[in-house]
Amino acid sequence: MRRKNIAAGNWKMNMDRAGAKALVEGLVQGDFPGEVGMILGVPYVYLADAVSWTAGSGIRVAAQNCHPAESGAYTGEISLPMLKDIGVETVIIGHSERREIFGESNAFLKEKVDAALAHGVQPVFCCGEPLGIRKAGDHAAFVESQLKESIFHLDTAHITKLIIAYEPIWAIGTGETATPEQAEEMHAHIRTLLQSKYGQEASDSISILYGGSVKPGNASDLFARPNVDGGLVGGASLDAESFLKIANAF
Ligand code: PEP
Repeated sequence: MRRKNIAAGNWKMNMDRAGAKALVEGLVQGDFPGEVGMILGVPYVYLADAVSWTAGSGIRVAAQNCHPAESGAYTGEISLPMLKDIGVETVIIGHSERREIFGESNAFLKEKVDAALAHGVQPVFCCGEPLGIRKAGDHAAFVESQLKESIFHLDTAHITKLIIAYEPIWAIGTGETATPEQAEEMHAHIRTLLQSKYGQEASDSISILYGGSVKPGNASDLFARPNVDGGLVGGASLDAESFLKIANAF
């Protein structure tokens, strides 16, 4: 199965309820090709609303995080059964802000991936290197170890349920985008790793998104690369017009 092109938004800790509703309404009413998958990474408190605002539109609502445990003494955390309970079927796992600010390790992210898949929730698994690693020329090995330690234990039936997002940390929220060549180089590397472990058919079916200052003005150049299957978009996903332009950039 040929992979899907995807425009995924990550709202992070932004928006109030009225703004979230207006944004979702703008997207539901907006035009973008039917074959493009749209995903909205919404703050926990607006997830249930977003599920109802998007009902019947084909737009998927994602949590930005989850805890791997079923339930228990994890004050402030949200479980996968809770997400499922309110109709959320996608979750962003391993965003660099979770890794860097909240100290989430590859091993902990592996637990989250396993728990999400066990509950039938699709992970958008994020990877990407910091600037120092890029400058040292170690970015390919760094991303490879993130994949090996968090998702390469999965079997083919499970790995093919994932969306992978490559997000170089130096390009997130900085206005500095990886060049289309830099993005394609890493995406091709990830695809090759997938192919050697899971075979051609599986590797061809997994969408690999680029994230890091994707904007209406640079999206089409990035998405034109053969292994860039869309974007995980922060700032530019907070405005319906700009996010729709990105969803129309394939
Ligand atoms: C992100 O939030 O994952 C992201 C890539 O942010 P931005 O598009 O603002 O760089």
